[in-house]
Amino acid sequence: MSATIEVRIPNIGDFDTVEVAELLVSPGQRIEAEQSLITLESDKASMEIPAPTAGVLRELRVELGQFVNEGTVIALIEPELGTAGPTEGDVTHRLVEEPAAPEPEAPAPAPPDAPAPQGAPPPTMATPKTVSPVLALDALPAADHTTDVAVVGAGPGGYTAAFRAADLGKSVILIERDAALGGVCLNVGCIPSKALIRAARAAAAVRDAAQFGVEVPGGVNVNFANIMERMRRLRAGISHHDSAARFRDLGIDVFIGGGCFSGPDTIDVGGQTLQFKRAVIATGARALAPPIPGLDQVDYLTNETVFSLTELPAKLGVIGAGPIGCELAQSFARFGSEVYLIESTHGILPREDTDAADIVKAALLRDGVTLLCCGRKTEVSREGNGIRLKLESHDEDYDIVVDQLLVAAGRSPNVEGLGLESVGVEYDARTGVKVDDRLRTTNPRIFAAGDICSTMI
Ligand SMILES: Cc1cc2nc3c(=O)[nH]c(=O)nc-3n(C[C@H](O)[C@H](O)[C@H](O)COP(=O)(O)OP(=O)(O)OC[C@H]3O[C@@H](n4cnc5c(N)ncnc54)[C@H](O)[C@@H]3O)c2cc1C
Repeated sequence: MSATIEVRIPNIGDFDTVEVAELLVSPGQRIEAEQSLITLESDKASMEIPAPTAGVLRELRVELGQFVNEGTVIALIEPELGTAGPTEGDVTHRLVEEPAAPEPEAPAPAPPDAPAPQGAPPPTMATPKTVSPVLALDALPAADHTTDVAVVGAGPGGYTAAFRAADLGKSVILIERDAALGGVCLNVGCIPSKALIRAARAAAAVRDAAQFGVEVPGGVNVNFANIMERMRRLRAGISHHDSAARFRDLGIDVFIGGGCFSGPDTIDVGGQTLQFKRAVIATGARALAPPIPGLDQVDYLTNETVFSLTELPAKLGVIGAGPIGCELAQSFARFGSEVYLIESTHGILPREDTDAADIVKAALLRDGVTLLCCGRKTEVSREGNGIRLKLESHDEDYDIVVDQLLVAAGRSPNVEGLGLESVGVEYDARTGVKVDDRLRTTNPRIFAAGDICSTMI
């Protein structure tokens, strides 16, 4: 009698039942290991149930719209000869002889450190073992560490994946090299930039108030130190959402240190080797340094340093008229800086519809930004305490000295030092980790999320 594998619904976190939203395969079909069989959906999350092994789908035991719960058998698969079958301890799949074997007796209690026996219910929520918000690596456990899901990078891509996995009852380790969790978005991206934009909007409203019949006798008086202080206060106020304490409360272990894959199912962090069943790479991106002659000779700003400015620059050069360059150029112009925005293509926001970009362009010009599009032959050099910019724009030569230069000319994915080669994850230094439309990398156990694999950066 041929052996088949029962595929069961795994732990579904806090939900009693979830709905079958998609049937992705049909009986008789040959399927690959890890191929998704069905999609489950709740109001909070969706989840695909993968095949534990390659083989032929003998039966699909669920229907579209059916509500299922943990342990429901959804499919029978006849494994291909020579395939490994489900991995040990994988509680969602059980090897059975046809007809199906009776349910096993409840197992005797296992010693605390014994691996989970096959067929035993998985833990609903992992107990945190280490939480290191700003603590160093001496807080790491000495023993080898195993987890269902290891996530590398605690920015929006990584922590969202970690939250979801923990929510679904998986044990999760989140690895972050920076003691300040939250990634670019919280620390040097969306949050601080939106705080500056809000202050800039207030300045513009005062500037324009007279048009509406509102007299503001003193006019605009920007206190840059107060603006930056407000930004830091808001950022700190929000940071508890992305804090180690919050992750700990959700059962997620946080490891502070750079993660590097060291084997097919292992990742090293701070001298410790962690073992995972699945991993998510969410290491984000950083400001790209464009090949502009002289740029490496000057102290220019990027998103990582611009939010630490203590003085409003009287003259600011901005290289790159993408969203980051435009929003910061406009904010600083509204604060009173003389801003030169340099873009190598024609117009601004090259990825957006021209109609939309033109609206932003008109606003920038209204705010006094000098826009130098089709910038060619750009060169940068030091000039006293400032920076000299030479370029050609629309057949005119420009020679400008600015106090600060912000470079916002694209993002470069953080693929270095991750040991991606050792786990067969393909990547490109410019476009990042290669993923399919389900964010799976070329290693089926490893996924990627966020800027590391985004076509939008
Ligand atoms: C100025 C600015 C404004 C922005 N405004 C917006 C906005 O308004 N709206 C919006 O949607 N997006 C905005 N973005 C983009 C947004 O910040 C990013 O898309 C988002 O942060 C990407 O999240 P992520 O998790 O992929 O990466 P990141 O936020 O970059 O996080 C990656 C994390 O991985 C860590 N890491 C890297 N390598 C390792 C390693 N080997 N081991 C462990 N940890 C590692 C990093 O330290 C980092 O914490 C803005 C960006 C900038 C720069």
